[in-house]
Amino acid sequence: MYDVAIVGSGVIGMSIAKALHRSGMKIAVIDRDVPGEHASYKAGGMLGAQNEFKGDSKLYRLAVASRDKFKALSREFMEENGIDIEYRRSGLIKMASHAEDVPGLDAQYDFLHRRDSQVRLLSKADLEALTLGAVEYRNRVIHIPDDGQINAWKYTKALLASLTASGIDRFCHTEVHRVNKKFDVYTLSTSSGEIHADKVIIAGGAWSGKLLDAQKANMAITGVKGEVLLVEHDGLTLEQTVFTTSGCYIVPKNKNRFLIGATSYFDDLTVGVSDAGVEWLKRQAMDHIPCLAACRMLKKWSGVRPYAAYEKPIMDELEPGLFVITGHYRNGILLSPLIGELVAEWVVKDQRPEVFREFQITKGGVNSEVYNQWGSTRV
Ligand SMILES: Cc1cc2nc3c(=O)[nH]c(=O)nc-3n(C[C@H](O)[C@H](O)[C@H](O)COP(=O)(O)OP(=O)(O)OC[C@H]3O[C@@H](n4cnc5c(N)ncnc54)[C@H](O)[C@@H]3O)c2cc1C
Repeated sequence: MYDVAIVGSGVIGMSIAKALHRSGMKIAVIDRDVPGEHASYKAGGMLGAQNEFKGDSKLYRLAVASRDKFKALSREFMEENGIDIEYRRSGLIKMASHAEDVPGLDAQYDFLHRRDSQVRLLSKADLEALTLGAVEYRNRVIHIPDDGQINAWKYTKALLASLTASGIDRFCHTEVHRVNKKFDVYTLSTSSGEIHADKVIIAGGAWSGKLLDAQKANMAITGVKGEVLLVEHDGLTLEQTVFTTSGCYIVPKNKNRFLIGATSYFDDLTVGVSDAGVEWLKRQAMDHIPCLAACRMLKKWSGVRPYAAYEKPIMDELEPGLFVITGHYRNGILLSPLIGELVAEWVVKDQRPEVFREFQITKGGVNSEVYNQWGSTRV
């Protein structure tokens, strides 16, 4: 019998478990797969708290506060388990790929610059100096120095190592089929038998909806598949992430490697990389950084971002003791440290943090309609 059972061992489930462990609760983390399979391991690792927002909101504030936790967190992991999550506050260059994207980027610049005077517009000469001529100037360019990045694969590994060292029970290859409550105790019916807990947290990423059928809330969560390339280029020196309004980004990683992301396919929870996706990513990356034409392809992969309507995560207590924490879409890595702490506090104190009132579930959500209106690029 557990105090808390967490369904899903991505960054969201594991961050909650890590924070909950401090309260001395008995915790189980359950996953139908083995580590390494899903979004948390596949991400670009950008900590784009400013890049991702065009106006003030509770989510924007959470994102900035969460981003600012990574420096200390990276030290904590180094000391605890020796894993370097490769945290860098290396800044981000955001560029309008097309002339029609300029008004939107100008509005975002106004918003960001009012709050942080370090965010500035770059001229062609500024961009050339900052990137040693590697990046082609287009239409409008802004520089966001405080946005950073980590290695998402290593971050997820470090979380896993932390849970293992804490003695938290982890169940792999264990699919949760149903969650039922009887006499104040939750029973999770799984592929490996029943697991009992006082409280349950569903952090199953894009698949969370399947477990929410009973609440008629399943429509509110889906997945947006993304494809990514990892390439190598010995001659390219670039510190900053380059993020374009077309949806393509280039994130410099260790050892002259560059992560090129990402396509977006709405309502697609499949695995695999398409030729069309690879072509689109290469073309976009070369268009902004021409010397990438001479790069060597190392790897390609895909992952599924958990999506909820209006790109707003769902962080709710559906009935006493049953929580759903998902839908962090493109920013789950960024948001995970703070969300982990806040959800742990909520579970321990039995009191919803004020900020989470904003993220209650909308039953029978209107995902595709909303996505088609607001969604980002598809190939
Ligand atoms: C290509 C790509 C690039 C990205 N880039 C960034 C980025 O640069 N910065 C950023 O902040 N975010 C980024 N993201 C988003 C980020 O990866 C996600 O928001 C985050 O990983 C979601 O974490 P999660 O724990 O909710 O879900 P997941 O990592 O998907 O984990 C959910 C887990 O739940 C398990 N599960 C589901 N259902 C069940 C069940 N019934 N029983 C048992 N287990 C179950 C699954 O097996 C899975 O392991 C990116 C995502 C992708 C795909």
